[in-house]
Amino acid sequence: MLTQRPRGMHDILPQEAFLWHEIEEAARRICARYGFSEVRTPILEHTELFQRGVGENTDIVEKEMYTFNDRGGRSMTLRPEGTAGAVRAYVEHKFYGGPQPVKWFYLGPMFRYERPQAGRQRQFHQFGVEVFGVADPAVDAEVIALGLDFVEDIGLKGLRLELNSVGCSQCRPVYRERLLAYYRPLREQLCEDCQGRLERNPLRLLDCKRETCKALAQRAPRIGEALCDECRAHDEGLHRHLDAAGIAYEINPRLVRGLDYYTRTAFEVVEEGIGAQGTVLGGGRYNGLVEELGGPSVPGIGFAAGLERLILALAQRRGEGASEAGVDVFGIALGDEASVELTGWLRRLRALGCRAERGFEGKSLKAQLKAADRLGARWALILGEEERRRGVVIVKDLTGGEQRELPALELESWWKETEHGTGR
Ligand code: ATP
Ligand code: MG
Repeated sequence: MLTQRPRGMHDILPQEAFLWHEIEEAARRICARYGFSEVRTPILEHTELFQRGVGENTDIVEKEMYTFNDRGGRSMTLRPEGTAGAVRAYVEHKFYGGPQPVKWFYLGPMFRYERPQAGRQRQFHQFGVEVFGVADPAVDAEVIALGLDFVEDIGLKGLRLELNSVGCSQCRPVYRERLLAYYRPLREQLCEDCQGRLERNPLRLLDCKRETCKALAQRAPRIGEALCDECRAHDEGLHRHLDAAGIAYEINPRLVRGLDYYTRTAFEVVEEGIGAQGTVLGGGRYNGLVEELGGPSVPGIGFAAGLERLILALAQRRGEGASEAGVDVFGIALGDEASVELTGWLRRLRALGCRAERGFEGKSLKAQLKAADRLGARWALILGEEERRRGVVIVKDLTGGEQRELPALELESWWKETEHGTGR
């Protein structure tokens, strides 16, 4: 127990951290382009927030939440997703009273008690965005474009965008009745889970991954045929915006998303290459949610992308062994006095932005060169006793092998020129 991490939770070790940085930087860069600002909400919220905001009839609330009583006896839950907290913050700080739209993004860990497998953890990380206050389909198109720009920016080109409309409180109940009429006679052929949710949330039957249920879903009535005029107009508007932006999409009439609060637009971005858990990003419009959570009636739309799945997809495409280039200069001191002097030189070089490492414990020149090589250092600075007395240092190019002597006092200007010359 002591030396084992909790099931479904992972250490992100230093050798993978650079990939996380790349992805997080891409998220921030793309959000800046689209005018989204970061919001950071607590990782714990009152349990009621998720019960209301995510919905009682969802997998998340039914069986996936980490819920506990705090020391004051209050029921708290580790956030399973980011939208409920963002909406809570939007309402609590009365952002609805200011200029709209309000455009936010978030990055951070989420927690769901699920069966761990490839691309499915109990602690995982999401990058997500939310736009509050505007119902125009142009916003839906911007949110989708942002999501695609993000996955493409990190190197995942050509992913499939699936799109659907799930209607609204006017037309969905009508569709729900049609679905019930279709499924009730087929009840016996459904999996146990679907039998259980048939009466409570028949839309979710369309989304079941079991083969028999999938086959039945294929022939189920389609929501597209049941949309009201407003929902249809919204949907067609979105298609026109996407076409104008050169964004290809596939209509998937069985795309319903797991959450109750979605209205109209629902979308997913899918990567084929990473197996059953191929959805790397999912989102949609939630015009009823802000009001459901105690705010005024304000429309909203957002998505969340699963960072572990994106990293899986990236690793698959890039192959193993991709890593960051880490070290500019490796300092090698031979002797105590030289070692002391090197400490000063390296600090001054680092102050100039040079990524510097060094050998320790008076190892041999050969051993230290080997260490420099292992780190992939570009240059070695060699300071022996004799060089130290003469006030010089040996600069060795570790890619070409050429080496020269430099007055120690010129090291900083050497670095400035070198850095400039390499265009770093
Ligand atoms: P799934 O059908 O795969 O369970 P979901 O509908 O529960 O997905 P959302 O709540 O929409 O997923 O979350 C958005 C994204 O977050 C998903 O598309 C996925 O990339 C990621 N995600 C969700 N749950 C997990 C998890 N347990 N582990 C890793 N990533 C996850
Ligand atoms: Mg899920």
